[in-house]
Amino acid sequence: MKCALGEGFTKGELVPFGNIEINPSAGVLNYGQGLFEGLKAYRKEDGNVLLFRPEENAKRMISGAERMCMPSPSVDQFMQAVKATVLANERWVPPPGKGSLYIRPLLMGSGSVLGLAPAPEYTFLVYVSPVGNYFKEGLSPINLVVETEMHRATPGGTGGVKTIGNYAAVLKAQGAAKAKGYSDVLYLDSTHNKYLEEVSSCNIFVVKGNTISTPDIKGTILPGITRKSIIDVARDQGFEVFEKPVTVDELLDADEVFCTGTAVVVSPVGSITYLGKKVTYGSSVGLVSQQLHSGLTSLQMGLADDKKGWIVQLK
Ligand code: PMP
Repeated sequence: MKCALGEGFTKGELVPFGNIEINPSAGVLNYGQGLFEGLKAYRKEDGNVLLFRPEENAKRMISGAERMCMPSPSVDQFMQAVKATVLANERWVPPPGKGSLYIRPLLMGSGSVLGLAPAPEYTFLVYVSPVGNYFKEGLSPINLVVETEMHRATPGGTGGVKTIGNYAAVLKAQGAAKAKGYSDVLYLDSTHNKYLEEVSSCNIFVVKGNTISTPDIKGTILPGITRKSIIDVARDQGFEVFEKPVTVDELLDADEVFCTGTAVVVSPVGSITYLGKKVTYGSSVGLVSQQLHSGLTSLQMGLADDKKGWIVQLK
C-alpha cells in the first residue's frame, strides 16, 4: 500500500514474499522514518485462525506515525491488510499448541528526501512468518541483566513508539548481554538510573505478595498490548495491580518477576544481575507467572470464553 504525504493510502495488493525495490535516498534508509508492529495469529482447535486485539496494534501504529511525522493507514486499512495477508498464508499458521504465525506490519518513508525532512511518499506492507518460542528457554525462567550505562530511551524521545531506530539502539547492550549468557537486558530510566523501564522487546512486572507492579507509561516505554491485557487478566484473577515508578530495589526484593510481549507472551524471570550481583527467584516457574500465562494464552488460543471481545476470528 502506498501514499503520498498529505494523501490517504491507496488499496494494496498481495505479492509473493521477496525483495522490494527502494530508493537509496528513501527517508527510512537515511533518517530512520520507519515504524512497525507485531502481532500473532493462532490456530484454534476447530481450524479457524484467531487474531489477538489487532485493532490495538492499528491504533498504536497511528499514534506512533504521528510522532514520526508519517501518515498512517486507518484502522480499517490496517485490519484489511493484516487479514488478507494472514488468509493468503493460512497454511503457515501452525496447528493448535505448536506455535503461531507472527505478523509484521511495517510503515516506512519510501520516498526520496536528501535534506532532512519527512519523506514525500510512504509504503505500508505486511509480512508473516511462523514462530515458536522467542526465548529458547520457553516457559522456563530467563536471566536478565540490568544495564546501567546504556539507555534505550530518553524523556521526550521516541522510546514510547515502535520506531525502528529504538531497536538498533539496543543491539549493542543486548549483544554484550547475550555473549555473557544472559537472555536479555533490562533498561533503567536515563534521568535517575534507578527506575525500571523495559526489556529490549518486552515489558516488565514485579510481584510482591498479592501486588503486581509495572512501570507506568510516560513516553519512554512501549505501551505493550500484552502488558495492557495482563493488567486486566491479573485484576480479574484478584491481584492488585499498580502502574507506577518501580525501583531497582523493588525488583531485587520481589517474590517473582516476569516479562510480557507479543513474542515472549508471559516469560518468567529466573534471575536478575545488577552491578555484578545476581538475585535468583527460583528455578521453577513462579505461580503468578504460570497463572497469568495460562489466563492469557487460553484467551489467545480460543480455549476460554472471549468475554472482553479481544479476539478477531479470520473466517
Ligand atoms: N517493549 C518493546 C520495546 C517491544 O518491542 C515490545 C514488543 N512489541 C513490547 C514492549 C511488548 O509489546 P506488545 O505486548 O504489544 O508486544
